[in-house]
Amino acid sequence: MSRPGLRTLLSVLLGAAAWLLAGLAMAAPLVALDGRWQATDAPQAQAFDPQRGLTLPRTDGAHTVQLWPRDGRWPTGPWVLEVRQAALQHVTLDWPPGQSQTRAQTIHVPGQWPGHGRLGFHIMSPPPDGAPLTLRVDAHGSMPGTLLWSVVSDSDYLQRDARWLAVASACLATMLTMAVMAVFFAWRLRDATFAFYAVYVVAFALVMALQTGYTVHPLGQQWLGEATRFWGRLATATAIVAAILFLDRFADLPRLLPRGRRWLRGYAAVVALCAVPALLPLPALEALGRTLINPLLALGAPLLLGAAALAARRGSRLAGVFLIGWTPLLLVTALSSLGLGERIGIAWDDGLAALATGAFEALVLALGLAERSAGLRGERDLALQEAHTDGLTGLLNRRSWDLRLQALLSATPGPLTVMFLDLDHFKRINDALGHSAGDRCLREVARVLRLELDPAWPVARYGGEEFVVALPGVDVATALQVAERIRTRFATALTDFDTLRPTVSIGVAARQTGDDADTLLRRADHALYQAKQAGRDRVQLAR
Ligand code: GH3
Ligand code: MG
Ligand code: MG
Repeated sequence: MSRPGLRTLLSVLLGAAAWLLAGLAMAAPLVALDGRWQATDAPQAQAFDPQRGLTLPRTDGAHTVQLWPRDGRWPTGPWVLEVRQAALQHVTLDWPPGQSQTRAQTIHVPGQWPGHGRLGFHIMSPPPDGAPLTLRVDAHGSMPGTLLWSVVSDSDYLQRDARWLAVASACLATMLTMAVMAVFFAWRLRDATFAFYAVYVVAFALVMALQTGYTVHPLGQQWLGEATRFWGRLATATAIVAAILFLDRFADLPRLLPRGRRWLRGYAAVVALCAVPALLPLPALEALGRTLINPLLALGAPLLLGAAALAARRGSRLAGVFLIGWTPLLLVTALSSLGLGERIGIAWDDGLAALATGAFEALVLALGLAERSAGLRGERDLALQEAHTDGLTGLLNRRSWDLRLQALLSATPGPLTVMFLDLDHFKRINDALGHSAGDRCLREVARVLRLELDPAWPVARYGGEEFVVALPGVDVATALQVAERIRTRFATALTDFDTLRPTVSIGVAARQTGDDADTLLRRADHALYQAKQAGRDRVQLAR
């Protein structure tokens, strides 16, 4: 990518980061909390700092959590107990007495405030001072997040929730728009690369929408929420397989990474099989698939990045674009799975960082796809140009000259003349000085023709050492002068050929009524023959 292109890209990256930070600024909690937690079958409770988060060790089973204000006094209500990064875990609050309420990203409780990227319990009247709030956490998913707890004001909660929805919607809309555009490109350009990109982006957007509960609220697709684990796995596997197929073509892996790409494809096949364990024929295999799928999925991103990095090192510019697009997303995913943010006391995720970096990636890859189509167009232009020109001299070839002459004959009302040129005793030069000296002669003819002729006149290498020129609007007298200038200039051009210095014979014919391209050119050829007969190195007008 060019330097200004890269600079623009980096500014977009920085802009996105600033926008993210602004969107994720933490609300000030109303009160500092203390807490302890206990697995239901464990003998003893353990203390933890609710602000720093609590990662529950087990993926299944219930845990009890108690929270109380550090200074002993709950703020007067109403306020919201906010639980962040619950991932797929279900959290049940035993308050008010006798009315326990359950929240999860994947459950929407009608009549209750929705929580986007977080869970919120609206507390109208708090427990008496000194009494804790008791909650139960059911780890409902395979990867429990680090739960963060805080007490915030209603207005803070609602404002940040609205901001979350706006940012998440913008990110998802960006991804879907890019995907729809890619579908059009795939269809119009008949290039599956765009289709794989579209599938990848849609699947990734679905993963994010499922994980953050967006599918349940505001989209209202409760059925997706009920089977989040299934759909999440399926969408993640689809995203990874599509990303591999996309990278394969996008970064030219068949050429740059022929062996590595076979491994990648094998990996994609295994992921596809394990993603839907029901597809595996034996119960034992099915169980294995179930166990393997999550570790397999975790392998996907590093594998893809490794392949892209190798392809970039071996010269694929687009693999570099892929890396720029994917790295922020990968960093964000790694940071949140390591829980680094909580360890240094900032809760910054709520799924928004992954959404925003996902949208950023979709944009960067779309830019890469634009580069790809520009590259394809360049190749096509080159092929088109090669189809019309002669490789040795850069003049037109015979086929396109014939077409140009046809067009000129019908479009030129006045005079029109044609020249037919042939090198004299060219065989001798080849025989005595070699083929490359002969080639130099041919290129020299082309140079002389370019010097002496109007750039608008079509000039072609018609065959081995024969050249033709059409001179629209030029009468016979002028054409003969031009031909004479070409002959003399060429005769004095190649001084180092000594006694073998080449010369050229030229036949000139003017259009007569009733002439078509064929008869006109035949008369010029005949004049050329006469010039050869008369001793070569001369110009002859057709009678
Ligand atoms: P005349 O004056 O009658 O035209 O004699 P001539 O030797 O020029 O004509 P002839 O048709 O006998 O030979 C043409 C030669 O041009 C034969 C061929 O080897 C040579 N030739 C054709 N194409 C190329 C080319 O691309 N490069 C070179 N070096 N020679 C070529
Ligand atoms: Mg010749
Ligand atoms: Mg010839």
